[in-house]
Amino acid sequence: MPIDQNYEEDDDPKDGSSEGASRRFGDFDCPECNANNPYDDKFGNGDEIRCYYCGGEFRVTVTDSGRLKLKLM
Ligand SMILES: [Zn+2]
Repeated sequence: MPIDQNYEEDDDPKDGSSEGASRRFGDFDCPECNANNPYDDKFGNGDEIRCYYCGGEFRVTVTDSGRLKLKLM
């Protein structure tokens, strides 16, 4: 678990396994430089995200089991 400092989570179910491909994420670990990138706007399947550290852009894929996959664009 990443360290959250009083992070507001209104409608963020902790056990998101039933969400499957519709699951949304608030942060990701960059596949290129391994930096953790917190995102204010949650992202999900089909979104495009950018690493703040190395500048890499990634296409988000969320599998049916709710696992995050990032593909370098
Ligand atoms: Zn990066």
